[in-house]
Order: sequence, then structure tokens, then C-alpha cells
Amino acid sequence: MDPKLYEKYSRQILFAGIGEAGQQRLLGARAVLVGCGALGTALANLLVRAGVGHLRIVDRDFVEPSNLQRQTLFEEADAREALPKAVAAERRLRAINSSAQIEGMVADLSPRNAEELLAGYPLLLDGTDNFETRFLVNDVAVKLGVPWIYAAAVASYGLTMTILPGATPCLACLLETPGKAPAAGVEETCDTAGVLGSAAGAIAALEATEAINLLAGRRDALHGRLVSLDVWSGRFQTIQVERDPGCRACVRREFRYLEGESQPHLTLCGRDSVQIHERSRRLDLAALGRRLAPAVAEVRNNDFLLRFRVPPYELTVFADGRAIIKGTRDPSVARSLYARYIGA
Ligand SMILES: [Zn+2]
Repeated sequence: MDPKLYEKYSRQILFAGIGEAGQQRLLGARAVLVGCGALGTALANLLVRAGVGHLRIVDRDFVEPSNLQRQTLFEEADAREALPKAVAAERRLRAINSSAQIEGMVADLSPRNAEELLAGYPLLLDGTDNFETRFLVNDVAVKLGVPWIYAAAVASYGLTMTILPGATPCLACLLETPGKAPAAGVEETCDTAGVLGSAAGAIAALEATEAINLLAGRRDALHGRLVSLDVWSGRFQTIQVERDPGCRACVRREFRYLEGESQPHLTLCGRDSVQIHERSRRLDLAALGRRLAPAVAEVRNNDFLLRFRVPPYELTVFADGRAIIKGTRDPSVARSLYARYIGA
């Protein structure tokens, strides 16, 4: 290995589980991260600093002031400019490690684009905040036979499990089997129960360790257990989960989420907003901004999104045709605002 690289990663190379050969593999490793919030930013930071050579980051959202308490790659300026998280994360990670290839993609992972966005990567990483997307990632991972790491954090607790399709239980084995599912992270969300940055950081650290383990070629050293912890109460638990012999995904190979049977066009997104993502054609945001300027309040745009207010609502429109409508949880209100200002 190049002496400068050796020096840069020397503290990790000294760790017996990785060594020079493991580091060399990390430098050539590729992974894709879905979701770049609290878990995703902490995870990406650890992986890029560890020398993972190529990281694709897929995220649909933009930075807001309420993210800064726990989403460790973002700064106040990112929130002021409403930068997409994938863009802000890419910039920051390039500054952290200029030799890593970082590819931020502003997109909503859906059955239409999931295989295209995830295929070709030997490891998929969970940084999402919802089970819809996690089951979609699980479907893709099981279908393609690619390892993925499930992780979730809410309030002061969280859990993570590494899934090796065919060898370990999958997410459907864990959560779709009645009476077997641990409740953590399933019912509550960060928007109802809040989340401590330290809880997300602790889970992201465990997830990063598993990722480094796999990418460094140490699959033999994986512990194979579901880990859950609560940073507030100090409880820490590991459970051996069994495969479900009748599993819908990894046994019967019914990829319900990937086939789009359970994908709504409208999703609740945060405490007080609705995302519309039924359109896949691209919008000319500059032209839309010019057209809307006389009719609506506070039109702002950057290279990636356009935002305007129609009191009491705020609409944020992305170039891929998606919109997040803040100020309502009512899909029909969101749909009518979308039709009126963006187009039917
Ligand atoms: Zn399964």
C-alpha cells in the first residue's frame, strides 16, 4: 500500500480485525446508502472516514433547521439554502475524504427506480425512516442476493441487523411473522416520539462496524444477531433471530413491495406534510418559478428545488416532479394544491 495511505488509515490497519489487506479492500469497496438523515449521515461519515472507496447516497429530502440536532453532516447554511440532503452530504463528505467517490442522488426510492438505483452494489445500507422503504430495500436485496444492513432509531432506542439473503433471516422473517416482531421502531416515529442524536449515533456506529466488516472481507466475523439498545436506560440486548420457513420474501420470493402493490402515490412525510410522487417526468424548475412568481408568496429556488408559500401551506417541488406539501396531512388538500400550482 502507498505509504501515505498507510499512514492515513494506520489506526484502523493496526486493528487486528482489519489489517492492511482489509484496508486495501475497503479502499476498493462500494456501497449504497438509502436515506441520509440521522442514521445515514452518521453512517456515511464513519464509512467515508474509514476509507470506503465509493458511496452512493439516495435521499429524497432537503435540510431543515430541525435536522441539525442529529444529522451530523449538515450545517446551518445547508438548512438556510434548503439544500437536498444528498447534495449537502456529498459536498461535506468530499471535503472529509477527497479520495472517496461520493455520489449523491436526489431521488425517492420507489418500486419504479429501486433496482436501477441499487443494482451493482455489493452492500445496501439502511438510513431510512420508514418501513415502506425498508421492505422495498429488503425485496431488492433478497431478489438480487445482496447483503443489506437494517437499522432504525427513534426516541432513545434503536436496533440493527445484518441481512445476508439465503443465510440469515430477512426483514420479512423478522417483522412479518406474527408474535415474533420486536416492537421497537415499528409503531413510533421520530415525528411522534422524537429522537436523540446519541441513539441514532450509537445505532449508526453498530451499522458502520457491520458494513466495514463485510466490505473488508470479514464476513466470517459477523455476529449474526439482532442488536437493540436504549441509550437512556442503558439496556443493550442481542437476539438470535430464526429464519421464517414460510417467509414471503426470502422463501416464497414474493416481492410485494418491489412489485409496487403496496406503494401509495401519496405518503405522509413528517408530522405535518404529504409527499406526492406520482409523476416521474422532469420539471423545469426555473420556468415553473417564473410562472408562479406573480401568483404565490416567497418563491425561492436553488439548483435542486423550488419552494413557495400558499398560506397556510408551503410547497417544495423537486426536479423529478415530486412535491412535499407542508401544513396538511390531508392527501386531497395536497393533491389539489399540486394540481393547481404545478400541474395535473
Ligand atoms: Zn425472510
